Amino acid sequence: MKTLIDPHGRSFSYLRLSITDVCNYRCQYCLPDGYQKTDAQTFLSPDEIGNLVSGMAELGLWKVRLTGGEPTVRKDFAEIAARVSSTPGIRRVATTTNGYRLAENAQLWRDAGISAINVSVDSLDRQRFADITGHDHLHKVLDGITAARDAGFDSIKVNTVLLRGVNDQELTSFLEWIRHENLSIRFIELMETGTNKDYFNRHHISGQEIQNRLDALGWTMRQREEGAGPAQEFEHPDYKGRIGIIAPYSKDFCNTCNRLRVTARGKLHLCLFGNGGHSLRHLLQDRSQQSELKATISSLLEQKAPTHLLHFHQTGTTPHLASLGG
Ligand code: SAM
Repeated sequence: MKTLIDPHGRSFSYLRLSITDVCNYRCQYCLPDGYQKTDAQTFLSPDEIGNLVSGMAELGLWKVRLTGGEPTVRKDFAEIAARVSSTPGIRRVATTTNGYRLAENAQLWRDAGISAINVSVDSLDRQRFADITGHDHLHKVLDGITAARDAGFDSIKVNTVLLRGVNDQELTSFLEWIRHENLSIRFIELMETGTNKDYFNRHHISGQEIQNRLDALGWTMRQREEGAGPAQEFEHPDYKGRIGIIAPYSKDFCNTCNRLRVTARGKLHLCLFGNGGHSLRHLLQDRSQQSELKATISSLLEQKAPTHLLHFHQTGTTPHLASLGG
């Protein structure tokens, strides 16, 4: 089996594929004014996605995460998931969603081949959830998580961006939630982007500070698993669930980078915070272009930088994560 390896010795197993920039939420740190259309070009079609994923699988990538924007705003979301999950070589299809359509669709999406789902929940307090996201949807999203469990997803994770002075006082409520529930919560360190600089300065909490709080409560670090995402996992004997910390500012974070990103309009980004993408779309129009597609991806990978420069406040060309696929 082929493996893509970059000049820094990292191998790539994981594709994060954005399928739309559109998001129906207005998260304070991401799209506080809601989605604004900036590009007339359409999003990748299921056929283009099929060609992309098949080329990536032939290069050795075996895990695909469908993201956005909010991926489930697409009417053809289940069709895309089925297309990706039936691609030879793809062993795992995951998605990251705000969960607003999960309660009614969990079984449909599971049947379409998605086995892992991350649901964003930034507060367990109804009013605060509404303040952060712009929608009074906490109960709908929690019902979605229950439906995902009933539908038999192998992995259900909750993504929570901890924000100083906004929701960080809820750390213990999140922990209580998983005392008796076999659920993983990922605390994501707030990342600076092109459009959230003031917000970042006011509300950023370092991954180290989150880890210190967990250490003080008796949580211990686990070993990383093969093909794992960027989280460092923690466990505690008194809790059924697990915690992960995604700390992009931590030293050596990029050493374990195993993912490539493609935007909803078909641009390959070698890093979430790089200086733009490289369009692959002209190579996704039919299967006869697969060799050129694979050669192009392999050669672009030679340009992958050893690390992002977020710690120097260099956020690259990414205005917000919805534009690239968080
Ligand atoms: N709409 C989906 C959702 O809400 O999960 C998928 C896309 S969203 C960009 C993916 C994840 O990125 C969410 O968990 C969101 O909270 C997180 N996110 C967005 N902007 C972020 C930022 N500036 N720093 C850290 N996490 C961020």
